[in-house]
Amino acid sequence: MLKINVKRISLISLSLLGYILLLPLWRKFRKDFILVLRYHSISEFRRHEVNVKPEIFERQMEYLAKNFKAISLTEFIDFLNNGKEIPPKVVFITFDDGYKDNFINAYPALKKLNLPATIFLSVGYIGTAKILPHDRNDEYMHNRLLNWQEAKQMSSNRISFGSHSLNHANLGKIFPDELREEIEESKKMIENKLEQEVLAISYPFGLISDFNTRVIEGTKQAGYTCGFTAMYGVNTEKTDLFRLRRIGIEASDNMFTFRAKLNGALDLLMLKETRIVQIAVRAANRILGV
Ligand SMILES: [Zn+2]
Repeated sequence: MLKINVKRISLISLSLLGYILLLPLWRKFRKDFILVLRYHSISEFRRHEVNVKPEIFERQMEYLAKNFKAISLTEFIDFLNNGKEIPPKVVFITFDDGYKDNFINAYPALKKLNLPATIFLSVGYIGTAKILPHDRNDEYMHNRLLNWQEAKQMSSNRISFGSHSLNHANLGKIFPDELREEIEESKKMIENKLEQEVLAISYPFGLISDFNTRVIEGTKQAGYTCGFTAMYGVNTEKTDLFRLRRIGIEASDNMFTFRAKLNGALDLLMLKETRIVQIAVRAANRILGV
């Protein structure tokens, strides 16, 4: 909880700074881009910094429905791959991991507002009783994952599915044989179960060391059209389709920082993955004991 509050205060301060110093100038450069939002679980109870509460998610979706055009994965690929002109205020909504609460809490809001989205499944966990390794310290009930019937039901209502590997594996750090299996088998399994082509993967963990060239080559060979990272930022026609950036929306976001993330006031977060900022964040966490 302390970590989430510290993060929220930092985000609000950075947004204010962004609005005053960065945005007037930055707006001129920030055009012809598509925002991709990255959510995880949408739940009242899950104790994790990436979890968003259902009522906050709903407000965020209402804001998007009113102010943006939400597009599907195929439309997203069309814009970036086929050179279609990108209109302003386009957003693509994604979820990582495949939590059951995406079906229970996010899907009704998306359906009500007719918003398309893509969920990246930790395929080996779907339809099993297992929970992800990073959730084992939390309550079992709040961390369950989707089953195939739930995914199937959503797939008939503008929700598409991508791979997030079989075992939520760090693809940048495993042996070539395992890598092939994680990438290829997860794709095949979704295609068999849901009878839809899988065009995209989201690399688990998704930071620079988690999707090296070997991972990207393997992904291309397996027949994916694009790969999403967890690196902060927007995508333009020039962005490599296998190094797509996303904007993470997390527990620390309120409507003010949500809007700041959408309109570019928080684009300084793009520097977050640089070495110098990583060192500073680690040092700050140590001082605060979080
Ligand atoms: Zn994940």
